[in-house]
Amino acid sequence: MSEIPNALYVVATPIGNLGDVTLRALETLRSADLVACEDTRHAHTFLDHHGIRTQTVPLHEHNEAAASVRLVEALRAGRRVALISDAGTPGISDPGARACAAVRAAGFRVIPVPGPSAAITALSAAGLPDARFLFAGFLPPKPTARRHEIEALKGVPAALVFYEAPHRIEETIADLAALLEPERTLVVARELTKLFEQIAVMPLAEGPVWLAADDNRKRGEFVLVVSAPPPHEGLDAEAERVLKALLAELPVKQAAKLAAEITGTAKNALYQRALQLKA
Ligand code: SAM
Repeated sequence: MSEIPNALYVVATPIGNLGDVTLRALETLRSADLVACEDTRHAHTFLDHHGIRTQTVPLHEHNEAAASVRLVEALRAGRRVALISDAGTPGISDPGARACAAVRAAGFRVIPVPGPSAAITALSAAGLPDARFLFAGFLPPKPTARRHEIEALKGVPAALVFYEAPHRIEETIADLAALLEPERTLVVARELTKLFEQIAVMPLAEGPVWLAADDNRKRGEFVLVVSAPPPHEGLDAEAERVLKALLAELPVKQAAKLAAEITGTAKNALYQRALQLKA
């Protein structure tokens, strides 16, 4: 492992293809005294594949607080501790945040050992021009809450990245298509790094039809990426000119505030446009 024994190593593991793991991750897991993992049986598929025999202990969303206390005790006893989740990077729509906070609060270091994450994997191949993205994770399962959340994300001047499960993929794509601008691009990244990997790019409005065309398209694990919203059309030429001039000299917030005072245009519209111009 590394030269620091009394630290929690947060180790990313594959999201499908068992070969997608770093040399440092394998070395860290092999030389640890304890590997905390979401599901010990699931973890053993991966650990056994790489000939790693380290003892495992469960740390999942239902026991994270108590399990974190035990990790801290293990660190106090001088043991080397690693943390993995079922797939990808711990703490990314997965348990891990509470353990990291507890370990740090107890005075020990938390050391990330980076590797795959489905969101970054999807973005790396999405081919979108947007410089920024917002990771939204899983949308709420209930329709009303889900739609509110999509509405709240609508104006964010960045690509949006969602995780979704197969049993909700239809309703989620339908809601995204109904509530966001139809000309935005949808990237459906399915079964990444696995046998039936598929990355399909289409106008958002066509998402529901694309999905309905073949039942196989509804199977597996999904990352959805929606490109950033089209440029704001609400600004008149004068507001746009003033905002650009101010942005050349001032930070976004100040430029939007001053432009609102000068032109009488709504501050939020100017702020959103300023973020787009900066991006
Ligand atoms: N910690 C993981 C990460 O770093 O990506 C995410 C764990 S979250 C519980 C599981 C979700 O991630 C799945 O429902 C799916 O949305 C996404 N995901 C994980 N593996 C994937 C894959 N191979 N292809 C597409 N999406 C995947």
